[in-house]
This record gives sequence, C-alpha cells and structure tokens, in this order.
Amino acid sequence: MSKPSLRDLEHHDAFVDRHIGPNDTEIAQMLRAIGHDSLDALTDAIVPGTIAPTGTLQLDDSLTEVEALARIRDIAGRNRVFRSFIGQGYYGTHTPNVILRNILENPAWYTAYTPYQAEISQGRMEALINFQQMCADLTAMDIANASLLDEATAAAEAMTLAKRAARSKSNTFLVAGDTHPQTLEVLQTRATPLGLQVEIARSTDEFHARLAAGDYFGVLVQYPASSGWVADWEKDAEAIHAHDALFVVATDLLALTLLKAPGEMGADIVIGNTQRFGVPFGFGGPHAAFMACRDAFKRSMPGRLIGVSVDAEGRHAYRLTLQTREQHIRREKATSNICTAQVLLAVMASMYAVYHGPEGLTRIARRVSRLAAILAAGLRQLGHAPMHDTAFDTLCFGADERTAGILQRAEANGVNLRVRGDGSLCVSLDETTTRADIELLWRIFAGDNATLPLIDELDASAPSLVPAVLERRSAFLTHPVFNTHHSEHEMLRYLRSLADKDLAMDRTMIPLGSCTMKLNATAEMIPITWPEFSQIHPLAPAGQAQGYRELIDSLEAMLVDITGYDAVSFQPNSGAQGEYAGLLAIRAYHASRGQSHRNICLIPESAHGTNPASAQMCGMKVVVTKCDANGNVDVGDIRAQAEKHSANLAAIMMTYPSTHGVFEEDVVEICEIIHQHGGQVYTDGANLNALVGLAKPGKWGSDVSHLNLHKTFCIPHGGGGPGVGPCAVKAHLAPFLPRGHKDAQGKVGMVSAAAHGSASILPISWMYIAMMGKAGLRKATQVALLNANYISRRLAPHYRTLYTGRNGLVAHECILDLRPLEKATGITAEDVAKRLIDYGFHAPTLSFPVAGTLMVEPTESESLHELDRFVDAMIQIREEIRAIEDGRLDREDNPLKNAPHTAAAVAGSEWSHAYPREQAVFPLDSLRQQKYWPPVARVDNVHGDKNVFCACIPVEEFKDEPAEA
Ligand SMILES: *Cc1c(COP(=O)(O)O)cnc(C)c1O
Repeated sequence: MSKPSLRDLEHHDAFVDRHIGPNDTEIAQMLRAIGHDSLDALTDAIVPGTIAPTGTLQLDDSLTEVEALARIRDIAGRNRVFRSFIGQGYYGTHTPNVILRNILENPAWYTAYTPYQAEISQGRMEALINFQQMCADLTAMDIANASLLDEATAAAEAMTLAKRAARSKSNTFLVAGDTHPQTLEVLQTRATPLGLQVEIARSTDEFHARLAAGDYFGVLVQYPASSGWVADWEKDAEAIHAHDALFVVATDLLALTLLKAPGEMGADIVIGNTQRFGVPFGFGGPHAAFMACRDAFKRSMPGRLIGVSVDAEGRHAYRLTLQTREQHIRREKATSNICTAQVLLAVMASMYAVYHGPEGLTRIARRVSRLAAILAAGLRQLGHAPMHDTAFDTLCFGADERTAGILQRAEANGVNLRVRGDGSLCVSLDETTTRADIELLWRIFAGDNATLPLIDELDASAPSLVPAVLERRSAFLTHPVFNTHHSEHEMLRYLRSLADKDLAMDRTMIPLGSCTMKLNATAEMIPITWPEFSQIHPLAPAGQAQGYRELIDSLEAMLVDITGYDAVSFQPNSGAQGEYAGLLAIRAYHASRGQSHRNICLIPESAHGTNPASAQMCGMKVVVTKCDANGNVDVGDIRAQAEKHSANLAAIMMTYPSTHGVFEEDVVEICEIIHQHGGQVYTDGANLNALVGLAKPGKWGSDVSHLNLHKTFCIPHGGGGPGVGPCAVKAHLAPFLPRGHKDAQGKVGMVSAAAHGSASILPISWMYIAMMGKAGLRKATQVALLNANYISRRLAPHYRTLYTGRNGLVAHECILDLRPLEKATGITAEDVAKRLIDYGFHAPTLSFPVAGTLMVEPTESESLHELDRFVDAMIQIREEIRAIEDGRLDREDNPLKNAPHTAAAVAGSEWSHAYPREQAVFPLDSLRQQKYWPPVARVDNVHGDKNVFCACIPVEEFKDEPAEA
C-alpha cells in the first residue's frame, strides 16, 4: 500500500465527515439497499430535470474547524466593544455563568425541539411556565405567554389583539410618542396592510387631548418612557376604557421590581423585552419578548402558552395549551403567524429570575436606580440638568452647544451614548454600571478638568427619581421556585434536573419532518458567546460593527449563491417573519407599479399553516388550491385559479419540495403561469435542505423565499426558538426589503426591532457553510435524500409511505400513513408517537401535513446506526400493532394505548395491565443498556384546554387537581 500524501492526511480533518452521519462505506451500502449506484445517480432519479441545471455552487471549498474558527475570529476582531449607555430597549447585563454554561452552551437545552410532545418536554415547559409566572407577576397581569420575538413585534401583536378584543369599532391605535422608535416603526409596518392607523402623539399635551377625544381601539404607552421618565397612567387607563378601548403598556421588567405595576394601573395588555435578564445585546438579538394580559383575552393571545394539565396517572403535567389557536389549525383565519418564538432566551431570562429571586432582582434594580439618582445629582451640579425629574435608569439631556464635545469625549473614552433624532442625549444605566462608570460619565459631560462630586456624599443627599406614588407595594415572585435555587449548587442541580426530563438531540435523533433537526456542531456554536459578537449594542455606531457588517455581507453572498436570488435581509427573526417580509415586498412591488389592487394569494392546501396566516397579515386574500392523489399540487387548479383571479393575482406561496415530501415536476411551469397573470412566486424555503447544491429557486423562476437558518443552516431550535428567517429576493424585489438592508429604499418599514434581527446567531450558519464548502453542502443534501429514502425503503414492508415522486422515491422526508392501521386496530399515529418515547425516541411530525400520519425527516447528520435504531423501533412497534390485529394484545389495554410508561408505573406494586412490565418498558433488549424514563405518562389534552391554568403550580395544590384560573 502506498503511503498517503500530506494532502490526504490533511484532508482527514474535514468537518464534512463529522457533519454527515454515514461514512462512504455506509453510503454505498445504503445506496445498494435502495437500488442506486451512486449519490449522483440517486439525485438524478429524484430531482426533476427542469430544475437540476440550476444547481451548481460557486462557494469556496471547505475549511477545517480550526481554519473556520480562525477566519471568524478575524471577522469578530473587527467589531469594537464600547461601554454602552445607549439603552432604548437594550441594556447591559451579567449572564450568570451557571446559566451561560448550563443553558446557552448546553446542547441538552439548545438542541431541543418545540414542546409539542409534552411527555418528553416537561423540563423546558417548567422553565417556560416560570417565565410566564415571572412576566405575569412583575406586570401584575393575570396571564403571560411563553415568549414573543422582540419588543417591537410584541407591541404589534398587542395592537392586533386589542383590535380583536376591544368593543370600539375605531381603526385607530394611539401611541404616546415617547416610545422606543423601533416599536413605533414596526407598529406602522404592521398596521398599514391591515387598514389600521397608528397615530403618534408627539407631546404629552397632544396625547391627553387625543385621549379625551376618543376614536381609537387601543392606546400604547411606554413605561418608563423611552427617554426615561415615569408617570402614573391610572387616570388615563380609565379614560381609555371609557372609550371602549384597550390600554397597552410597553414596559421593563427590571424597573417593575421598584415601580407600581401596569396591572395596578388598569393595563389590559403589557409587553416588553426580557433581554436585560441575563441575555447579551448580540447586536439586536435573539432575546425573548413577552406579552401579559387580562384573563379575558387568554384565548386570543398570540404565540405559545404553556399550561398545566394532568397525565394518565393523575399527576400534574405541563403541556402547550390551547394548541387549536396555532396557525396550523386556524390557517387563513389565524390572527398571528408566530410559530418559532424565543424559547432558549426565555429559559435564560426565567432562570436569571430563579437565580436572583425577588430580593436579588430588587437589589439590582435599586442599585441601578440609585446610580441614576447619583448620576443625575452630579450632572446637575456640573451644570447639566436632566430633562425629566423622574426616572428609573435613563436620563435625557437637551441638545446645546456642549453636545458635540460630550460626544467626542464619549467616543475617545470608548463610551456610547444614545443620540436622539432631535440631537438630545440619553444615558441608560444597567446592572453592569459601576461607580467608575458614573465618574467617567461625569467627566464626559463636564470635561476632563471639572472637579467631580463625591459619589458617597451624593448618595446621602440625592433624592430618589422614583416618585413615592409610583413605588411598588405589591409582592412578586413569591412562588418557591423563585426563592430556592439561589446558591450555585442548587441552581446547577435544578438546571440539570430539568434537562434530564427532556429528550433533545444530545440523546436521540429527532426525525421531525419539515423541521430539519440536524447536527448543531460545537464549532458553529463557539463564536456566538465571544464578546466581540455578544456585547455589541444594536444601535452602536456602524464603525464599531465592521465585523458584523463583514459577517452579514459574507453570509448574504453565500446564501445568494445557494438560492439563486440576488439579495437577502436577515431582519426576520423567524421563518414566519420571513414570509411576512417577503409578502410585504411583493405587495410594495405591485404598488410601485400602480397595481396595489393585486391582493389574491394562491396557497396549496398542503402548505404550512404560517403561509396563510402571513398572507392575511399582509392584507391578502387566500385562495386555497387543491392537491392530487399523489400529493402534488394540482397544476390544473392553479392555472384555473390564476386565470379566474388574473386581474388581482398577487402571488402564489408554495413549499418546495412540497410538505408532502416530493419534488413536484411542474414547478417551472407553475412559475410561468403565475408570471403570465402578473403574480409573483413565493417559495417557502423551509425545505431548502433538500435543495442546497442541487437546485436554486431563484434560478428556476421563483421571486422570493424565506429560509430557515434554524433548519437547513444549523442554528439550533432551542426548544422553540431562536430562529432566523432571512428573506431572499430577486433583484426587482430588493428595493422592497425591510428597511435596514443595503438595497432597501424604505418603502417597506422594519418588520423586527433590530436591523439585522437575531444577528448574534448568524455566526452559526456562517461557520456551517464555511466548514462544508460547496462540495460538502451538495453531499449533505444528497445524503439527506439518501437517509429519507433508506428509512422509507426499510419500513416499506411495515408502513406505507403515503407519497412518492419520480421513480418511487421521496425527497428529504417521508410520510408514513398510519390510517389503515388505525382502521384495523384503533391504534392512532399519536399512539405510535407516544410509544416511540418508550423506545427512547422523539416522535416524527404528527398529523402534518396529513392527519393520521407521521412525517419522518432524518437529515444527513444521522448515522446509519441511528437510522437503523429508529427503523428497528418502528418495526417492533409494527409487531405490537400486529399483535393487536391478531388478538394477541387487547385493543384497549396494550403498550401503545398506555404509552409512554413511567418508572413509577412499572415499579408500582400493582400492575394491572394485560401485558408484562418488561414489554412495557424494555420492548427491545438494547433498552436495558440505555433507557430514557419519561417523567409523566400520557398528558390529557382535553383537560388542559378546558381548565386553562398557565402559572406555576401552587404548592398547596401540588398533589391535587389544578384550579381553574
Ligand atoms: C418551520 C416552517 C415554517 C415556519 O418557520 P418558523 O421559523 O417556525 O416561523 C414555515 N413553513 C414551513 C414549511 C416550515 O416547515
């Protein structure tokens, strides 16, 4: 055997071989099993010839982990970290290290999926119910949801909730002008297509005059105001209610530890950001926003809500409550398109509250408030009187001839202040502010030669900036969970105990169709916590964010090559937000050509629920088109509908390859039909994992797509967020990208609070693409196709794959049809999903896009060993179903109907089932070596929806039924 060359030896560090599960020998073996000679031959057999020629990538070749980390280190180094006093919704914070390492850097938390399967998600749902309790307590509202995307979009959701819930028939939403500018902008963006007016009262007088006049369905104020002052809104709330409108308050949870809560002033809906509870700036995100409201609105609240229900053994169990509200069910009648939210960040923020407790949080807030009072008193002495007499953490100063000098000294000292549109300056303090910062700020304002006041002297004399009437008197965070885990050991063990209850990708494949749960490699995750990425304020001057600029431009170029589009905006912070941005671009494009009447959006019935939800949010009318018996969109119906609506056709939204898991042959023809009738083609790019390196939507005729970086490009799902849903468009739509993109012409406003959305997690996708290179990305797609077809083929004797495309092959996922088995045995797809838990697996996607089915997407990262483990479990489950068919197992009392089985159930002294304990929990011998024990038995969905209870379980009730809220 000849000696390997240096080049061969070097090649062995290839990341590609770590990311892709099966090795080349296994790939060959699997190809044989499905009857194809090579990956290319398999690809040719699957991908239609009409789109295949568009595939070739121009990207660079792959980098090793070491090389890619060095490259991105360089990029990070071009960001400059200044001390930030900018505020405006983003504040400095110390992430407790126990949270940093054991949540943000811990795959048990960040690789989990949205908790649709309640039994394997009890840990993160407990964390989320803590989040809900924290938000409800601090705001003094009845109920809060389990996170929204950011404060600005939360305000927009509050506006539309108010529109639905208020008795007033007005279309006007009144907003106090001293609200964060990004919130004002997103409100405007969201209101316009819905025919709502956002009216901004520029002064307090104007606001009060406008309040008295009536004719609005809702009113929003920021408390504390964007420029820092605080006021009691109780009288205003009464006036608002007298006009049959709802009162919305945008607030700051840290301030609320000291301030009278919005719920105590008559607020109906309260929103805000939880960023300063331990989540770094990250140049704008991700952070968890929240919405809290009165109990009366709980059934129309957007986003996800964790509730308490009971399990089959009668104990308390958490579940996603009121799931019928999710866009999957409501579709074009949906009121919000929120799907992916900010779970990982909500978990971090809630744990920050758990760790500090009510006293710790109050102490932090008091320190901030005291420092603000001292800063104000000192600046007053130095001749700089703040604009307002009241404040929590923010002081503002009118512009004058000294302003330029102040800004110069700030810059020279590595300090950022906020400069408002009118030239006034604001200074926001936070948890990280020290005495030294106060003295530095004094010097910056008064010049180097000024004699500075003494901090301790001012501490004795400076009055509090919080007026006595606004001091908080009510208790909060009284539940034991916020009063127990204050030592690091307790915290560490609490986090571990919750993580142990859950199944995430650090323990098993999560073969969720449409969700693309692939490897989130450690090297991809490492850069996100570097200070050069995490400690940049989203409004820091551009010169300090050169590294981000380079990262964003570089990632944009990569995605342009991969998709065949011309420009990409990273502003949308979820896939659904990307859909919204894309449809807004289409809408603005039509309007720019004098065609604003075009408002019909064709959507095949197989589409993901967010598609129709986003379309209606853009003011479009959804026309549903049919699918044929083979799962393909019905081109005849599309043609007929396009002709029928020709004059008003705005767009078609289709997923490719379809959610039915097939590459439809006619996609190019469909694009032509839509274009002939003046419409635009929106391709939902959530399934891009089947396309990368094989075909490009932007080259086969599509005009716009959103991509899910949290699917195809390795950003972890975090238990239901964060996500990034970039909006990719052809050149003619680029001017209509959300403001913030370099090509945008400002005709479409911001769709999210920050120009580049959740910028701090973009390094993950950049690292992935850089380490895979063009050949690696193509191979990954091919292996994703191979893995799906391997599973489909191995399971064929046991379960029917519902839809196949060319040559009897599927794309990157396959739908297993359980309906015939249900007919014969009464066993449902859900029973199989729950039984898989006993085998240690997370279920595939249940009943989407077809009820009574399981959709399996293994991705390229699953090894042959893991695929076989899954297939073996599914085959064994099929044997159990067969035993029911044959009468060897009872139709009701069998391991499927009773799944999952807890340790408590099998260890009990009573065992009344008609099958042995071993069969319940060790149906395969291998499970004796490694066993996941679900903490609860099957969770009762109906009970949970009938008795909606969404707070921490009261201690005295811990053993009883939860009370109706
Ligand atoms: C995941 C998904 C979406 C929505 O993405 P989010 O990030 O959850 O908003 C849209 N369409 C399809 C087909 C998807 O699979």
